[in-house]
Amino acid sequence: MNRELVFVLEPDVGGVTVEISQASKQAVDGLAEDLGTRVNLNCARPAENSRRNLPVPRRGNSPKRTESDEFSIWLYRLYHHSTVDGPGRRSVVQVSGCSIRCQGCFVPQTHERENGTLVSIASIVSEIVRNRAAHDGVTILGGEPFDQPGPVAELAASLKRLGLHLTVYTGYPLETLIDQKDAKIAYILTHTDLLIDGPFLNQLSQNVGEYRGSRNQRFIADVTNE
Ligand code: SF4
Repeated sequence: MNRELVFVLEPDVGGVTVEISQASKQAVDGLAEDLGTRVNLNCARPAENSRRNLPVPRRGNSPKRTESDEFSIWLYRLYHHSTVDGPGRRSVVQVSGCSIRCQGCFVPQTHERENGTLVSIASIVSEIVRNRAAHDGVTILGGEPFDQPGPVAELAASLKRLGLHLTVYTGYPLETLIDQKDAKIAYILTHTDLLIDGPFLNQLSQNVGEYRGSRNQRFIADVTNE
């Protein structure tokens, strides 16, 4: 069986992320012993209680909102310093709600919208700007970002106005999104610097390398060339 280890070094903060597609518990424990304190990550899932998690600002004691509009988005979590969700170090907007439901999904807790919170896009952008030094760009993942095309288009517009590199994950193949002929979806696609598309397929999840969960998922740097 082929085994693959990918080491992502963060020399400025003294961290190292190790991506492991297949390894025995003994080998993983040995690595942890050599490298020091260990925090477990999973594909597109932030670690609990780690420096990678920062809370999304809540607005005073205002009642919890439940009605979507283009200026708010269902958000599961916003976190920073990720080196596994796209190139460089990234702030990550993880939306809640996914209608695709891939078998073996790493983040089933994001499937229901109501497991997240409806928050204003302005508050997310403020949090990202406040943490400008903590990232080289922003990743939007889920859940499924294209299940909220209006709010995600609004968020993408704000991020691109700030000149930030934008990576977007989707469980839909690009062709399916284009076939929707939806202006908001088209806006997101044409303002995304790196799209990682396609559902998670458990049978293709070994030896995948960086950033993706299974080998069917593509890295698409310019959707207009597809
Ligand atoms: S699209 Fe992503 S979040 Fe949705 S089920 Fe598939 S892997 Fe999970």
